[in-house]
Amino acid sequence: MLKRTCYSDNMKDGKEVVLTGWVHERRDLGGIKFILLRDREGIAQITAPKKKVSEEIFKSMDSLGREWIIAVKGDVKSSPQAPGGLEVIPTEIEVISMAEPSLPLDPSEKVDADIDTRLDNRFLDIRKPRVTAIFKIRSDVLTAAREYLLSQAFVEIQTPKISASGTEGGTELFPISYFEREAFLAQSPQLYKQIMMATGMDRVFEIAHYFRAEESNTRRHLSESDAIDIEMAFIENEEEIMYILENLVSHILKYVSENRKKELDLLGVDISPLPKSFRRVTYDQAISFLQEAGFNVRHGEDLGTESEKALGNIVKEKYGDDLYFLTKYPLSTKPFYTNFDGNVARAFDLDYKGVEISSGGQRIHNVDILKTKIKEKGLSVSSFEAYLKTFRFGMPPHGGFGLGIDRLIMQMLNLENIREGVLFPHDRRRLEP
Ligand code: ATP
Ligand code: MG
Repeated sequence: MLKRTCYSDNMKDGKEVVLTGWVHERRDLGGIKFILLRDREGIAQITAPKKKVSEEIFKSMDSLGREWIIAVKGDVKSSPQAPGGLEVIPTEIEVISMAEPSLPLDPSEKVDADIDTRLDNRFLDIRKPRVTAIFKIRSDVLTAAREYLLSQAFVEIQTPKISASGTEGGTELFPISYFEREAFLAQSPQLYKQIMMATGMDRVFEIAHYFRAEESNTRRHLSESDAIDIEMAFIENEEEIMYILENLVSHILKYVSENRKKELDLLGVDISPLPKSFRRVTYDQAISFLQEAGFNVRHGEDLGTESEKALGNIVKEKYGDDLYFLTKYPLSTKPFYTNFDGNVARAFDLDYKGVEISSGGQRIHNVDILKTKIKEKGLSVSSFEAYLKTFRFGMPPHGGFGLGIDRLIMQMLNLENIREGVLFPHDRRRLEP
């Protein structure tokens, strides 16, 4: 097999190269034949003028089918009409793998496909340069997140994904059969990362996998999703957590905008301006904004999807901000471990263009208060024993957040559906691929 010498975006005029990739398109103008060869970095034009290539090569180009994998050896020449201003005059073409002629999905995007067809044939869908671009950006989001958190003395950890009890007791748990007993898939690393605060490792983060049995089919919920979870100790208030979150998100956006210009252009996305600190909108303000705009929202309830979206538009119009914190929620809307001042939760959400991408706050670190709150939420103290024990032998004040990676990518890249930014999304209806 011919060995690739470079990707399509790294060719130099006058050099001999070997490219490997997929037959994106074929054109035959009689005296000259073209192949558009797609690899992960772009598309290269293979140009075969009858007079300049061997008869064998000229003929063999007719037999190639769409999406066949080939290796092409040839000489790079400048050509103003070709993508990237360069073309390859082939001296050798090797077929590496053939594709059946009737494709269930068209990776060259000449034919549109709905989201279900795309996901059913995800391996073909990801061949589309615009879809590949999303996953290159996603990789950079994680690189940037690690870079920032490590620079702030966070230690990366992994915690179990099978647990004896649910994190927040809720209805979104997936029960599994665990030998002779029932167990649950982890909804989030919440309890474990809090336990870590009792170990002395006072700043931790996890790129965590969440499992949630989300009943309804929405454009922003999946059964499995990924998040960046952090927990940090010795804090005085939730502002210290918000500071880390806004700097983390700013760093991610800056990193992506600097390193993925080509991919952002391909997606038609501009993520500037890049704010350093995000606006704070209190829950009370949010409710008044919505009521003024004629929305029927009641004080004391969590904001629904529609109100969140409307608030996103209002904040954008009023202040020009895409990213903003929602602070000072009523305590009743937040989980049992949330610290508080009277009826106000010391917790926040971060919204991006009208969609929640993160929740966090300061936690309760007094074990007696914690037990009271567990009972108040109608949960059983005994099922949290292993967790509660860690609060009895020295637990510093602490807090943290969970930042949904899939949500962040959906909002950053203006994707219509969270599924577009996840390789193999699973939801109530879809478990394959
Ligand atoms: P929502 O109210 O939007 O359903 P949540 O408040 O239940 O989200 P949290 O428990 O706060 O979610 O989880 C932290 C973050 O994880 C959320 O802000 C979101 O970005 C992400 N997330 C939570 N559930 C899902 C899901 N089912 N699919 C994708 N991302 C999710
Ligand atoms: Mg939340």
